Amino acid sequence: MPMTEADERLNAIQEKIAKAAKLAQREADDVRLMAISKTRSADEIRPLLDTGHRLFGENRVQEAAAKWPALRDAYDAVEVHLVGQLQSNKAEDAVQLFDAIHSLDRASLVKALAKAMDKLDRRVPCFVQVNIGEESQKGGCAIGDVPALVESARSAEIEVAGLMCVPPSEVHPAPYFALLAKLAKDNGLLGLSMGMSGDFESAIKLGATHVRVGTALFGARN
Ligand SMILES: *Cc1c(COP(=O)(O)O)cnc(C)c1O
Repeated sequence: MPMTEADERLNAIQEKIAKAAKLAQREADDVRLMAISKTRSADEIRPLLDTGHRLFGENRVQEAAAKWPALRDAYDAVEVHLVGQLQSNKAEDAVQLFDAIHSLDRASLVKALAKAMDKLDRRVPCFVQVNIGEESQKGGCAIGDVPALVESARSAEIEVAGLMCVPPSEVHPAPYFALLAKLAKDNGLLGLSMGMSGDFESAIKLGATHVRVGTALFGARN
């Protein structure tokens, strides 16, 4: 089969992931590439599914509900994670739609998610999102609240897969990635959801297990 544009973009990123992992003396397989498909239509997503890629991320419940049920019917073993802010009143939809949630950032959401998981009898692993740059406009819990939030999720029988962050823009992200890695270690967590199109290599060097790449895979968003 000829290489498609999707194949080429995916291969280029996987090569960069492999290189960054090697520099950090890590296995490339320990880094999962999540294709962030927010704002992309099913027609834009299908070529990537046709390459065999299976892990995707969305930032809105409603948008994911409109696109992914049909795509899941058409392709096997698709995994879709939520990487955007979640309102408590959409917890049930989120538990139904997603295979992991990367935006658990407050005690009230632990409660809503636990209730939804109990009701649907479906456990969805969560990443605790940390407001790593302490920016007032950003989602994520305060750094000092991480231990209590992790503990409350665990006592509600929500699996905490790791920590997630979106560092401040315009400054070098490495110190923030390093801080998230330290927080994860201090809390006995293995997963690190960090790194986007512009900085995933740096994130991998600092331990990222899930990199969230949108524009580098799909092109610029409108
Ligand atoms: C949009 C988004 C990404 C992907 O950003 P790109 O710069 O397009 O790679 C990653 N993480 C989150 C939380 C996002 O909202």
